[in-house]
Amino acid sequence: MTQPLKAPCARCGRTGPAFPPEPAWGRVDGPLCSRDWQAFAEARANNTYVDWNDAFDNASDDELEANFDGSAR
Ligand SMILES: [Zn+2]
Repeated sequence: MTQPLKAPCARCGRTGPAFPPEPAWGRVDGPLCSRDWQAFAEARANNTYVDWNDAFDNASDDELEANFDGSAR
């Protein structure tokens, strides 16, 4: 994790210490509060996505079908 910025979180809107997303995460709007930063870090560690928007931006078509087929819309 790099130096925090004082900025609103791109996910939850909470203003406070926020961190730029890791480039390896793909297309992620930032900065993120520590809670949402952690959510992305854990999702990527498990080869998954934090929500539908994240999956839509970053998952392959095959992954989308495997992970979201009729369940998590
Ligand atoms: Zn947040």
